[in-house]
Amino acid sequence: MSRVYFAAARVKDYRKWWVPEGSMIKKIERLFFAAGFDTLFGSGETVGLKVHMGEPGDVHYPRPIYVAHIVDIVKELGGEPVIIETSGLGWLAGRVSAKKYLDAARKNGFCKETLGAPIKIIDGEMGIDGIKVRAGERGEDVHVAKGIEDLDALIVLSHATGHVQAGFGGAIKNLGLGLVTKTSKYRVHYQGDLNIDPKKCDGCNKCVESCPTGSIARRPVEIIQDTCVQCNVCLDICDKNAVKAARETSPKELCERIAINAAAVVKFFDKIGYINLLMDVIPHCDCHPHSDIPIVPDIGALASFDPVAIDRACIDLINKSPAVPGSEAENIGAPGSTADKFADKFNLINPGTDWKTQVLTAKALGMGDQKYVLEEI
Ligand code: SF4
Ligand code: SF4
Repeated sequence: MSRVYFAAARVKDYRKWWVPEGSMIKKIERLFFAAGFDTLFGSGETVGLKVHMGEPGDVHYPRPIYVAHIVDIVKELGGEPVIIETSGLGWLAGRVSAKKYLDAARKNGFCKETLGAPIKIIDGEMGIDGIKVRAGERGEDVHVAKGIEDLDALIVLSHATGHVQAGFGGAIKNLGLGLVTKTSKYRVHYQGDLNIDPKKCDGCNKCVESCPTGSIARRPVEIIQDTCVQCNVCLDICDKNAVKAARETSPKELCERIAINAAAVVKFFDKIGYINLLMDVIPHCDCHPHSDIPIVPDIGALASFDPVAIDRACIDLINKSPAVPGSEAENIGAPGSTADKFADKFNLINPGTDWKTQVLTAKALGMGDQKYVLEEI
């Protein structure tokens, strides 16, 4: 059974306006120490803080002030913090490359000046620089973002959200999609090689010019499988719908693959600190270029060394919470007004998704325990 620490978003007495301890920033600080994250690193060691800084247009990503405060704590303890992230899969407009992501992050309020630490996109300029690690029961290749090797310690700050394919996104997803290269992101979403359909291709060569590895021949336009790294850029960029993967993964496979990728990432550290923010819980992930209204009121934050337990506790708290009126949780009939009913908001909001597989696979791969003790600070 794993220990998960919880800080509620509500202040105890809002009339006591002068009490800074009621601030969520201070509560995250208390979570950090209660969970023992100060034991993760020593003086002079490099501490990666993994955070998704939001696709342009998303307005519900984690607030930079939380990251900045964790940066301050790490510095006070003698560590050297660096904010780490990877580029998005394929040709996502705002985060296709390190350069684009850093620009998007700056517009969303994340930069060295606001955070007090540098931001590094650790899978290279085009999101394809990785280290191959075997993980999962069948020993699958996972391409972990190369810069992970430069870190002495890791703290993963995750925004709890729904997800249109995975059902739920928290710590496991932040590891399993957020710290791998485009190649392993592709293998979460698709199976098999990418190919070009000559009947649909008009020879515009947009894909040829955008391929980061020069893996598309011009005449005839076709993918050179030996050098293709499955970054998905050609599939996204082709507006003739000529590029196709063999098939899309099912929600169950997708969740298994996220967990397998996550299991590869955790191999780099003895222990990782996880903080999940149960605030602005939107029905989809921060990769969308928009954000819907939150599905539940702000609940608070969790901290743990166990990614399985923290995600499970997070899902339970959200499912127990009333729905926000007018939100997708209310629209789909989650009995939000009756907080004692364990309606699975995530499966209801994104039908056919299967977050349980994510949690169960991570548990089966030795990443943690679904059973937890919640300790409120
Ligand atoms: S972008 Fe599409 S249509 Fe254009 S060359 Fe590539 S596959 Fe063909
Ligand atoms: S051919 Fe392969 S490497 Fe090139 S853009 Fe397509 S997926 Fe990426």
